[in-house]
Amino acid sequence: MTSTLSGHGGRHSAPHNLLISSQANRGSADDHAAGVHVLPPLPYSLNALEPIISAKTLSFHYEKHHKGYVDKLNSLTVGTPLADLTLEALILHTAGKPEHLEIFNNAAQAWNHTFYWHCLSPQVAADVPATLHRKIKESFGDVGSLKKEFAQAAIEQFGSGWAWLVLDDSRLRVMKTANGDDPLPKHLRPLLTLDVWEHAYYLDYQNRRSDYVHAVLDKLINWEFAASNLG
Ligand code: FE
Repeated sequence: MTSTLSGHGGRHSAPHNLLISSQANRGSADDHAAGVHVLPPLPYSLNALEPIISAKTLSFHYEKHHKGYVDKLNSLTVGTPLADLTLEALILHTAGKPEHLEIFNNAAQAWNHTFYWHCLSPQVAADVPATLHRKIKESFGDVGSLKKEFAQAAIEQFGSGWAWLVLDDSRLRVMKTANGDDPLPKHLRPLLTLDVWEHAYYLDYQNRRSDYVHAVLDKLINWEFAASNLG
């Protein structure tokens, strides 16, 4: 899928993070050849993340919200010159352009959610993979310090948005983005994300975003997926 960028005029250089997005959004690759984005399957069942995230939350989040972004994106792009672009290419092409804000928001939200599903797992490994652990030690000191900084970003994000662990050059860092924005336009490589829109937790935690953030960080993070994104 990295070739899709160069196939559209090479407006942006192809950052290595496109490889990651291809991995997370593999389910959309084939159907997108027809100019239609599809909702990729969840990597687990709707009740697999209970009791941290209920089946009811996951059902609304995936089947209504995530699907809504994909459907809206198709309604905005099918039949236009942008229909041939992959999600990643759309995000890069429309970022920072007010006339394309609605397309950017829906493309980024479609991409962010697929990435988020893969960041969670019902079976969390006891240890962080060695390659990632080494990076975490270099950048944060230890896993606990990373979790603390990540939780702070997730909790302090004002309003809707996302917390991220990204690879910035050779260092890891935590960042947060508002609404549908993500690290791809900044050419940063995302390793992990956490959705802090209210729809991600309100049915289970109401206003207690902090409880949701800490529960997910302690029980559901797919460290193997994060490590695989190091490339
Ligand atoms: Fe969401």
